[in-house]
Amino acid sequence: MTVLVLGGTAEARALAAALVHAGRDVLTSLAGRVQNPALPPGRVRVGGFGGVNGLAAFLRSDRVTAVVDASHPFADRIGANAVVAAEQTGVPLLRLERPGWANHLRAGGWTWVADVEAARAAADGYTRPFLTTGRQSLATFLPWADRAVLARVVDPPEFALPGRWTLISARGPYAYAEERRLMTEAGTEVLLTKDSGGTPTAAKLDAASDLGIPVVVIARPPRPAGVATVSSVAEALTWPALA
Ligand code: NAP
Repeated sequence: MTVLVLGGTAEARALAAALVHAGRDVLTSLAGRVQNPALPPGRVRVGGFGGVNGLAAFLRSDRVTAVVDASHPFADRIGANAVVAAEQTGVPLLRLERPGWANHLRAGGWTWVADVEAARAAADGYTRPFLTTGRQSLATFLPWADRAVLARVVDPPEFALPGRWTLISARGPYAYAEERRLMTEAGTEVLLTKDSGGTPTAAKLDAASDLGIPVVVIARPPRPAGVATVSSVAEALTWPALA
């Protein structure tokens, strides 16, 4: 039995660890976007499969018996590919997705938008934004070259950022006190984030709300319907194809 975990998240690493502990053959797949990724226990492969057909061929050639898509909530292309490849090959597919922040106590006070462009439009009236929407979104904000943008990403982008911007390369988790100090010192006027969910990066939401800083949240992209979905590693381990 070989379980393919589509990874790139803390949940994917935790699931791989639990399956390895249970004696399963686990292969975690990473896209290869991050320079020094945190590696899970078990086998690891890096790089794209080559679309749906490449993934389906991989499932067959590597005799994968179950797939868990534990990729990030915003990694919607690999998620969609997994659905089609699983259908084509008959390999069972489970989606493991951490809960979003829609039920956060402060969520009602935030501005929810559909995508990165809408986030820029929603925060356009501010001169000192704090961008935590990810490296892949930074190009959308380049028209803000004249603003004192604070941008936090895991790895720096491959292109130069405007001279007025401050870039922080860091990986969570982040504590409330640090987030509050960072936004206070930067004079942050608005926080922009994706609805990544989970706890490691959630302290910024409380810190911003306590400081009276508006929060703009990009909602998660839609997912194909009809896929068995769980929100925790413990639940995933009860899925029949893994139990
Ligand atoms: P994406 O838009 O859904 O995927 C783009 C392409 O990258 C896919 O078509 C696939 O290439 C390849 N790919 C993505 N995830 C892969 C994986 N786990 N293993 C092998 N190939 C993968 O993905 P993304 O948003 O660029 O994210 C890339 C990875 O970073 C994901 O694994 C995700 O879990 C992680 N991540 C993403 C975010 C985010 O905000 N998007 C945040 C944290 C971590 P082929 O078509 O060639 O197979």
